[in-house]
Amino acid sequence: MNNDRATTIAPDLPVLLRRPDLLRACHGSAQQNGPFLPVMNPATGRQLCTVPMVDADEARAMIAAAHRVWPAWKGVSAQKRADFLHRYADLILANVEDLALIMTAEQGKPLPEARGEVEHGARYVRWYAEEARRIYGTVLPTEQAGRRFMTVLEPVGVCAAITPWNFPCSTVLRKVAPALAAGCTVLVKPASHTPLSALALAVLAQEAGLPAGVLQIMPGRASEIGPVLTGDPLVRGLSFTGSTAVGKELMRQSATTVKRLSLELGGHAPFIVFADADLDAAVQGVLVCKFRNSGQTCVCANRLLVQEEVLPEFCNRLVRAVQGLRVGDGFSAGSDLGPLIDSAAVEKVEEHIADALACGAELACGGTRNPGQGYFFAPTLLTGATSAMRVAQEETFGPVLPVLSFKDEAEAVSLANDTPYGLAAYFYSRDINRIQRVAEALAFGMVGINTGRMSSEAAPFGGVKESGFGREGSRHGIREFLEVKTLCLGGLR
Ligand code: ADP
Repeated sequence: MNNDRATTIAPDLPVLLRRPDLLRACHGSAQQNGPFLPVMNPATGRQLCTVPMVDADEARAMIAAAHRVWPAWKGVSAQKRADFLHRYADLILANVEDLALIMTAEQGKPLPEARGEVEHGARYVRWYAEEARRIYGTVLPTEQAGRRFMTVLEPVGVCAAITPWNFPCSTVLRKVAPALAAGCTVLVKPASHTPLSALALAVLAQEAGLPAGVLQIMPGRASEIGPVLTGDPLVRGLSFTGSTAVGKELMRQSATTVKRLSLELGGHAPFIVFADADLDAAVQGVLVCKFRNSGQTCVCANRLLVQEEVLPEFCNRLVRAVQGLRVGDGFSAGSDLGPLIDSAAVEKVEEHIADALACGAELACGGTRNPGQGYFFAPTLLTGATSAMRVAQEETFGPVLPVLSFKDEAEAVSLANDTPYGLAAYFYSRDINRIQRVAEALAFGMVGINTGRMSSEAAPFGGVKESGFGREGSRHGIREFLEVKTLCLGGLR
């Protein structure tokens, strides 16, 4: 650690922490003399701290270090990698409160949500501790006597993880845990808004006994570090979570070195309420699906589709429920929605609302930013929305939900699938035949049926179409970090 370049923090956050050293993380392998990254508190709009940035030269040195230590990490036994991940999960859970405080400070989400995210992240670490020991090969029947085929699964190599700010802890752990379990070394480029969670997680990984260089964090400018990661032939895999536009750019850049890619990109989730649904359960489903993290999730409902005959009744119940949600600082008890990440996020929400109103939608509730400091926005419902509106086509990434109506099942499915995205979809119905039909007809990687929330370490998470490819979580998640090698043993007698 070079003390001159250590993270500098506003005085209020460290006093809250049991372990202020989680914030004193320095990083990097080479001399750090680049500029600092300011980290803001979105609830106040004020600077929280600064973090030394990794520049292109240092990024290259970090990749070289990750490559140097890879053979040794690959050679560590599966049992030892599993032991490390179990210790890591234990340490994350022992520090839930501090990790949650750090996250709420840099990202804004209510503290209980932040705690939940840390625990959720730790479950992935535990899951991949278990998967590390189940990386099985095969022995294949052959067409010729005298030879045998076998397959073994080998780690991809040095992997990069580029992560977003909406889930600063779990998006890191969902990539790092399977990568380490597989025997890869990992370089994490966290979102510039939220580097502190990633840095704190790296401190704990070191404490759990991870050898130096196996996991490194690269806070810095995406425009500088991105091309280094994608262009360096030593980086063999890239796992990215973020917008579709950036995902496409990373694909283009990665083509030059033909990297293994796993892309978890944007979404535009339909949330369908059929007339036969349990309407109160559907209202609760909308609340958790849409307003968690103030609508800043790639799997949150972007369009509410309600069958005509229940539209007025459903909207009445939903408006009442939404009006009961409290917007406030994530550190204040009772806040349901924290701030949006920055002023640009608030402006995008306002643009989508203005466009919808100009095109004939009506404001059922919300619609305004909070006066004063921070980037708070009231949870908003727009009735009378149509597919032509921007809010029904582009990801808003905010607490705004347009309500569209439909006549029958065929129209619901057609409206739902009318998007280039294919990440998550949700529907509520009590008809088992309809449940089966609609689940099969929806062109999405994940379908929630009578639930507004489906993320779990046990289930594969990922999309189709322009929402990307590859899966996180479950036994599928580790495959993103493994290559199949075929062995052919000939000349047998
Ligand atoms: P969002 O900010 O909406 O989550 P982005 O796709 O802009 O989505 O950002 C997700 C992550 O990708 C962040 O870590 C960001 O810094 C990074 N990123 C953004 N642009 C690029 C780029 N051109 N190359 C590499 N990484 C990028």
